[in-house]
Amino acid sequence: MRPLVFDNRFVRELPADPETGPQIRQVQGASYSRVNPTPVAAPHLIAHSAEVAAMLDWGEADIAEPAFAEVFGGNRLLEGMEPYAACYGGHQFGNWAGQLGDGRAITLGEAINARGERWELQLKGAGPTPYSRRADGRAVLRSSIREFVCSEAMHHLGVPTTRALCLVETGEQVVRDMFYDGNPQAEPGAVVCRVAPSFIRFGNFEILAARGDLDLLNRLIDFTIARDFPEIEGDAKARRARWFDEVCRRTAVMVSHWMRVGFVHGVMNTDNMSILGLTIDYGPYGWIDNFDTGWTPNTTDAAGRRYRFGHQPRIANWNLLQLANALFPAFGATEPLQAGMNTFIETYDFESRRMTAAKLGWDRLADADLPLVEELHSLMKRAEIDMTIFFRALSDLDLAAPDAAIFADAFYDEEKRAESAVELSAWLARYAVRSTQDGIPTEVRRQRMRAANPRYVMRNYLAQQAIDAAEQGDYAPVRELLDVMRKPYDDQPGRERYAARRPDWARQKAGCSMLSCSS
Ligand code: AMP
Ligand code: MG
Repeated sequence: MRPLVFDNRFVRELPADPETGPQIRQVQGASYSRVNPTPVAAPHLIAHSAEVAAMLDWGEADIAEPAFAEVFGGNRLLEGMEPYAACYGGHQFGNWAGQLGDGRAITLGEAINARGERWELQLKGAGPTPYSRRADGRAVLRSSIREFVCSEAMHHLGVPTTRALCLVETGEQVVRDMFYDGNPQAEPGAVVCRVAPSFIRFGNFEILAARGDLDLLNRLIDFTIARDFPEIEGDAKARRARWFDEVCRRTAVMVSHWMRVGFVHGVMNTDNMSILGLTIDYGPYGWIDNFDTGWTPNTTDAAGRRYRFGHQPRIANWNLLQLANALFPAFGATEPLQAGMNTFIETYDFESRRMTAAKLGWDRLADADLPLVEELHSLMKRAEIDMTIFFRALSDLDLAAPDAAIFADAFYDEEKRAESAVELSAWLARYAVRSTQDGIPTEVRRQRMRAANPRYVMRNYLAQQAIDAAEQGDYAPVRELLDVMRKPYDDQPGRERYAARRPDWARQKAGCSMLSCSS
């Protein structure tokens, strides 16, 4: 394998836990603990992302080497790697949870590619760390497939996200009680190598504020700005203010994209919020099939539905508020924090209007347009209309003679389709009038809408089908799913089935409509 150049600033510039190894402990006064991946029995490469490999200046020949699976299964280190697990805390489901940390993620190092870009390589499922609490540090194949394919799919959809280099099966079994109902099962284990410029989370700052470690809080803030936001300029005070503003702005952009493509994260705890505004920690996430703003994929969230689709912008706001609270002792003033919170609101409003306008093929979304949009959302919810299919089909609507027949595939329930037919036709007529006002040529409008409305999203049942095959030793469907998701805005002849609405069998099936945190 072509060697990587490492520049491990996180371990070099921030204080280390003096103790090494995976012994469970509270780690004070340090940002990380040195710990190596625990070797696995038989690492086997199942899939990789050619695009992410290229970001590391690697080609197919590097990936084909036996050493590749060994390194990314956790059995071998490359020269320059300095593995560690980060210390962070977080608010889980609205409550402060204390120290959490990388319980099964281990960063290998920060690679610098030929273009000078910094890419942190992190294994997920690499074995116990000081932060594993009562768990085993491992990950099962099903959740690893879900993280690997979905993070790449999100990237190709244009959603800010961490990336994934590869998926390695470990040759070991992992025991999980998937629905916490006293039925533990042995499942195949796997390791995903995630890649991002930084894996720092809101929780890395929160834990320091909670412990009153103002010294380290200041250091971590300055480190993060210097390493991950080098473009921010000004004196120390101004840089911090601009930095928090930028975190708020990016978080708003990320969530508005989630709403555009119908992605529901499922566990928006503050330890799962990236300081770079990237979608991170793919667990019990889900995709909207029938448009339902009240839907949460996470069974652990079923009672309060805190992380339901339509609530995500408000939760992002709440999470930023927790970050602001944590930063306050270091900032010593509320104004820059309040300004950032305002930036979140303004950016979310701006971006969600811009994206909604693009989805509908309009130049912009004015206040006067809001009732029409709200009526559509309410109709889609009541009539159980598939979000992705509906918006994609809408780009084909003939504005001169709108016909609801083009939406036939978007309905899950014939009765509801019949009941809503009159209302849908009335809405389409009004929509056609409004769309004509912008005077955009038909083909331009169509192209614009197709660029905002994907043909393919990684529906839960598609992931589950690929998982079922992989658990039987057939990895081709995982690779095919990844390949489909590389061009989600293109019609891909012969791959229509990947654009189909959720089949009836998947409606209430584990992994398709219900997911747990057990992974
Ligand atoms: P999550 O909600 O999946 O982001 O996880 C919350 C916390 O639990 C993080 O500190 C994780 O590192 C930790 N965690 C989750 N699963 C495991 C596992 N199998 N072994 C060790 N730690 C885990
Ligand atoms: Mg997490």
